[in-house]
Amino acid sequence: MFDDLNDLYQQVILDHCKKPRNFHEMPEASFSAQGHNPLCGDQLKLFLALDGDTIKDISFIGSGCCISKASASLLTEFAKGKTKSDVEKMFSEVREMVTTGKIAGDVGKLAVFAGVYKYPARVKCAILAWHAVIGAIKGDAKPVTTESEQI
Ligand code: ZN
Repeated sequence: MFDDLNDLYQQVILDHCKKPRNFHEMPEASFSAQGHNPLCGDQLKLFLALDGDTIKDISFIGSGCCISKASASLLTEFAKGKTKSDVEKMFSEVREMVTTGKIAGDVGKLAVFAGVYKYPARVKCAILAWHAVIGAIKGDAKPVTTESEQI
């Protein structure tokens, strides 16, 4: 499935898949949110420690395909130290990128997922952690699922 993806992007995804960053539970978390992608079997749980509107710390646990794990790993790297509105803004840019392949803003390392739009079945894998983090930010404790999401 990676044939069309740039080699560097592929390496970054594989690296984050094999060695996910911030991959642990966080007992002192202010919020947690679960994400489930039944089409692929991806299951994630995110933990956030907030300081006002700032994400002081973020981590995740779970199992799933390489894309979903790498996406969650890169999300935690991005989100640490950012504000809720930074994360909401990036969510819309990432969603645009993985559904159209177009990169509108400065997405940094998250550009590695730009090629995912060519694989519609994988878009939900790439966006799962983002749906979960947005749910956590909004204080929505219900598990999120991509099953009925219009993305
Ligand atoms: Zn998946």
